[in-house]
Amino acid sequence: MPDNDGVSDVSSVHTGSCLCGAVSFRTSGPLRGVIYCHCSQCRKQSGHYYAATNVADDAITVAGADNVKWYAASTKARRGFCSNCGSVLFWKHSELDYVSVMAGAFNKPTALEGECHIFVGDKGDYYAIDDGLPQFERSTPSVVVADD
Ligand SMILES: [Zn+2]
Ligand SMILES: [Zn+2]
Repeated sequence: MPDNDGVSDVSSVHTGSCLCGAVSFRTSGPLRGVIYCHCSQCRKQSGHYYAATNVADDAITVAGADNVKWYAASTKARRGFCSNCGSVLFWKHSELDYVSVMAGAFNKPTALEGECHIFVGDKGDYYAIDDGLPQFERSTPSVVVADD
């Protein structure tokens, strides 16, 4: 990332959890700005759309990881959610050394800021995107997604 826009304080620690608390996490590295994904997979899984930051694999610790169920929605990426309460928590691409974490799972204050919307071509037809952030029909060069 060429600048620090949308990236929270490098030294800050953030915590979060699923709804029931069976899964909790702690991040210690910089967090990416929040990317909103409106693709059909994110819509179907979340019931609306994804709002996710990401963090390096070695900068997050997960407690209750046994309670995370992973669904392989494609050959390259899997989606992690709490097997007890169903909270959507993680998105993990098998070839990347970071993991996406749902912004809504973080405890406040998150220090997170929105960055852009992707896959707006697949968005639901019952809402408008009017927050002024950049919108992309599919993904952007800086956001690696699972294309299959
Ligand atoms: Zn839970
Ligand atoms: Zn998506």
